[in-house]
Amino acid sequence: MEKYYPLQVAKKHVNKYQQGYPLLHKEWMMNWSKKITESTLLKLVSPAGEFIAYGYAGKQNKGDGWLFSFDKKAPSLLDNLQARLQEAVQMRHSYFADETTTAFRLFNGEGDGFGGLTIDYYDGFLLLQWYSLGLYQFKKELLPYLYDLPFVKGIYEKRRFEQEEANQDDFVGGKKATEPLLVKENGMTFAVYLDDGWMTGIFLDQKDVRRELSLGFTAGKTVLNTFSYTGAFSVAALYGGALHTTSVDAAKRTTAKTREQFEVNQLDSTSQTIVVEDVFQYFKYALRKGKQFDVVICDPPSFARTKKTTFQVANDYPELLRQLIPLTATGGTMLVSTNYAGFGMKAFKKMIHSVCSEETRTYRIVKDFSLPTDFRTNKAFPEGNYLKVVMIQFD
Ligand code: SAH
Repeated sequence: MEKYYPLQVAKKHVNKYQQGYPLLHKEWMMNWSKKITESTLLKLVSPAGEFIAYGYAGKQNKGDGWLFSFDKKAPSLLDNLQARLQEAVQMRHSYFADETTTAFRLFNGEGDGFGGLTIDYYDGFLLLQWYSLGLYQFKKELLPYLYDLPFVKGIYEKRRFEQEEANQDDFVGGKKATEPLLVKENGMTFAVYLDDGWMTGIFLDQKDVRRELSLGFTAGKTVLNTFSYTGAFSVAALYGGALHTTSVDAAKRTTAKTREQFEVNQLDSTSQTIVVEDVFQYFKYALRKGKQFDVVICDPPSFARTKKTTFQVANDYPELLRQLIPLTATGGTMLVSTNYAGFGMKAFKKMIHSVCSEETRTYRIVKDFSLPTDFRTNKAFPEGNYLKVVMIQFD
């Protein structure tokens, strides 16, 4: 049998781990040691020596490894990972059966019972995202299992942990995907690139929001899409019958990327407005011109720095909202989103109420969205349920 380093949890954290909390924090352990390196297998025990779980060491952005089995009789990392993958695939059968959707999350790390790796499915191509060197060291043993899955044409990966070599190839093996690869989501088409930097062109976790936009509440309306990236929300709004979309993003790629998303949907890109500018600069311009929109979408990154501004969701969201409200027309709707894991839906809504109540107009929160069902979450790990999107209706 493989060796498991016995790791003792400090008394005050025992309960949390016994309830199934999966993330290891070395500060919560009584005997974390230099002998524990990336990929060391661990056996978590209480101060009294009772078994709690098996795990592995892998330093991530947050946390120092994951627990993968709370069953004393199931210690093998690979057996557990394969079993969780198999369950995950079975749970997505409705996505596989749905011909109008060919891109979704196949395996959501700790939400599917095994933290440190996520796998997205893009029309037969898998995109693996590794969050630690610790788990990455098991790649060679995992790959044959993935290639054996009947729907896999090829595999790509992104390494989301600190590493010495930069700019590595993201292609792992099998067939190569076309560039772009055209995928479908609820009947809409999106151009994605599996080997072009950190992002693919679409954020799969927003599928419920895109669906809502496409179902018709934007019909005949003008839409402002801020932090628009490749304009996926604008595409969805046009499917819903929007009169006109304005997409604003500071990145240079924005114009070409957004046009491409319109064009792969046979939407006329020349009649839509695409603005490459810092949103805060754009707000000044729009306010000066007295511009207002029926639907205003706001989906900033948790942290961003442009030449002109630094934005941090935790502190700056209220000010962002304050600047957006005057751009929302009478009877208009705002869709505000954040993927910041540092606060939950309740706190996000509280912030929204506190800013909106400074207004003379009345407003109502009419709907909210969190992660779609393919982004499975773990009740014992609420911070994994990071997405919060709130729809606000102004009178
Ligand atoms: N809403 C998008 C995803 C947004 S990703 C979608 O649904 O696909 C965040 C985007 O914010 C990035 O494209 C980044 O270029 C942009 N961004 C970050 N800071 C910005 C700023 N100050 N002004 C405009 N865009 C910004």
